[in-house]
Amino acid sequence: MDFQSVLDEIYEQVKQSENRGTVASYIPELGKVDPSKFGIYLLDHDKKGYEAGDANERFSIQSISKVLALSQAFGLEGPDIWKRVDVEPSGDPFNFLSLLELEKGIPRNPLINAGALVICDILISHLKDPKQDFLNYVRSLANDDSIDYDEKVAQSEKKTGFRNVAAANLLKSFGNIHNDVSDVLDFYFYQCSLSMSCKQLANTFFFFANRGKCIRGHEFLNLSQIKRINAIMLSCGFYDEAGEFAFRVGLPGKSGVGGGIVAVHPEKYCIVTWAPGLNAKGNSAMGMQALEQFTSRTGLSIF
Ligand code: GLU
Repeated sequence: MDFQSVLDEIYEQVKQSENRGTVASYIPELGKVDPSKFGIYLLDHDKKGYEAGDANERFSIQSISKVLALSQAFGLEGPDIWKRVDVEPSGDPFNFLSLLELEKGIPRNPLINAGALVICDILISHLKDPKQDFLNYVRSLANDDSIDYDEKVAQSEKKTGFRNVAAANLLKSFGNIHNDVSDVLDFYFYQCSLSMSCKQLANTFFFFANRGKCIRGHEFLNLSQIKRINAIMLSCGFYDEAGEFAFRVGLPGKSGVGGGIVAVHPEKYCIVTWAPGLNAKGNSAMGMQALEQFTSRTGLSIF
């Protein structure tokens, strides 16, 4: 299949879209991003890359980082992780705080904010220097030491992340945060501030399409662990629009409020889009259109 022509056509068509969404501004630093940016990167199973538009420009990956933190925590803690976080889709926005669901202090899944905060707590318990060790993990997955946090974005969210402060405290009150709440929040804000391009993200997420082996061939997770995380991405990766994403695109994946979307076809490819304008559910409007077109034109969805 001529992937490059497919990407070029999709890029040209979606770039003209009138349905471009709105850039997130609740984290002030994110509101400064140019809304006309648009990039696509595809990495196939033979590690051959194809790109269109702003595929090499770095952006704030935000919630996409939650999958990487989950991977590292799962690798370190093993199945005990599921005692502290559930695996059910929430049907709620990413920052929703349901007191009912939190009755026992167990967040609905690891990809909503409450769940991601528990994962940060687990990582802090395992790592000597959590921020640096997590960064090293991502760099090693991507085989790219230039990947880094965006200090401005981290500080911007630290100043305004009151809902996350509330979630962390609520979880602490149920005993599901074992470390200092402020340490967990600080680590969470830095994790979300990771700045990466579509290409870097595709390299990083390649192991989800490659039975747990990264682009250098090192095994980071086993096949069973990869199955579980891909399943969580499929059912929980798109806030309260996970059903719509599965319906339209048909791939496991994860979005972030920075406008990035990563999607994976096990044993076939990893594809990443970036367009900062978000739809009403918080997913990149043009990214969803591009991915829907990609799986429709190529027939390469998991269904
Ligand atoms: N850091 C963001 C927050 O907690 C992540 C949101 C997202 O990308 O879903 O609000």
